[in-house]
Amino acid sequence: KESSARESNVAKIKVVVRKRPLNKKEVSRKEEDIVTVHENAYLTVHEPKLKVDLTAYVEKHEFCFDAVLDEHVSNDEVYRVTVEPIIPTIFKHTKATCFAYGQTGSGKTYTMKPLPLRAAEDIVHLLHQPSYRNQRFKLWLSYFEIYGGKLFDLLSDRRKLCMREDGRQQVCIVGLQEFEVSDVQIVNEFIEKGNAARSTAQRVIDTRRQNDSNESKSGKVIGKISFIDLAGSERGADTTDNDRQTRIEGAEINKSLLALKECIRALDNDQIHIPFRGSKLTEVLRDSFVGNSKTVMISCISPNAGSCEHTLNTLRYADRVK
Ligand code: ADP
Ligand code: MG
Repeated sequence: KESSARESNVAKIKVVVRKRPLNKKEVSRKEEDIVTVHENAYLTVHEPKLKVDLTAYVEKHEFCFDAVLDEHVSNDEVYRVTVEPIIPTIFKHTKATCFAYGQTGSGKTYTMKPLPLRAAEDIVHLLHQPSYRNQRFKLWLSYFEIYGGKLFDLLSDRRKLCMREDGRQQVCIVGLQEFEVSDVQIVNEFIEKGNAARSTAQRVIDTRRQNDSNESKSGKVIGKISFIDLAGSERGADTTDNDRQTRIEGAEINKSLLALKECIRALDNDQIHIPFRGSKLTEVLRDSFVGNSKTVMISCISPNAGSCEHTLNTLRYADRVK
C-alpha cells in the first residue's frame, strides 16, 4: 500500500527545492550559509544551537526531494527540471500547476517570473509541429491575482471577479478575460501588462498565470498550465509587523497553504472528498486538481543562518507534501 501510494505520488506531484545565494546584506553581516546541497537530490541544514551552558553546537537536518537546486542553478535550468517535462502532457488532457512556496525574500518571484514565457515558447513551438498543426489547437492566456481573499483580473484593469460553480464540479471565474495568443511576443506583452497591474503591497496573497490550450472546433479546453506565485509562507505570529492588515493577510496566506496541503494529500491518497473549499486559492485550483493533474511545487529557501527556522518550516512542509 505504502509503496503504491508512493508511485502515484511521484507521477502526480513533484517537489523541487531551490536555494538562493546569500545576498549582499547577508554577506556584509557575515552571515553563515547553513544549507549544503548534495548531488541535486538532497540537502543538509546546519542549525546553529546553544546548550544550556551557552556552548554553541550544530544540529544537522537532512532532507531528500525529487530535485534540489543550489545557488548556482540558473532560471533556465529551473525551467528544464520543473516545467519542461510537463508541457507535452497538457496536449493530452492534463491540467498542470506549478507553484512556488517559501518565506518572503527566498526567491519565489525570481523563480516564477520567467516560467510562463518559457512555457509559452515551448507550447507555441509544439503547436507548429506536424503532429499538432493539423489539430488546430489554440492557446489562451489569463492572468489574475488573489488579494485579500478576492480575485482581480490583471489583464483588465484589476476588475474584481467572482467564482461560480456549474454543478458539475467545474468552477469558473466569471468575467475573467482570456486572450488568444499565437506568438511568444504577444504572450510577453500580456505578461508584462499583468505584472505591472500586480498589487504593489508587499504581501500579495498569490497570483496565477495560466496558459490554456483550446481546441478550436469544439472550443473545448483540453489542457491547462497554471503558474502560481504565492506570498510569503511565514506564519502570522512570526511577523514583526504589528499592522493589523498585515496580520490579517498573514492569516489568509496560512489558510491557503494549509488548505493547499490538505488538498494535495487528499488527492494523493485518492480520497473522494477533496477539501477545495478551504481557501480561495484551492477553490480556483479545483479544476486543475480533478482528473488528470500534475503539480510541481518549488520550495524556495534562503541560505542564511538568520532564516534557519523559516527554512526548516519550508522544508518540513515540502516533506509532508512529497
Ligand atoms: P520572494 O518573492 O520569495 O519574496 P524574491 O523573488 O523577490 O523573493 O527574491 C528576493 C531577492 O533575492 C530579489 O532581489 C531577487 O532578485 C533575489 N534572488 C532570489 N533568488 C535568487 C537567485 N536564485 N539568484 C540570484 N538572486 C536571487
Ligand atoms: Mg514575491
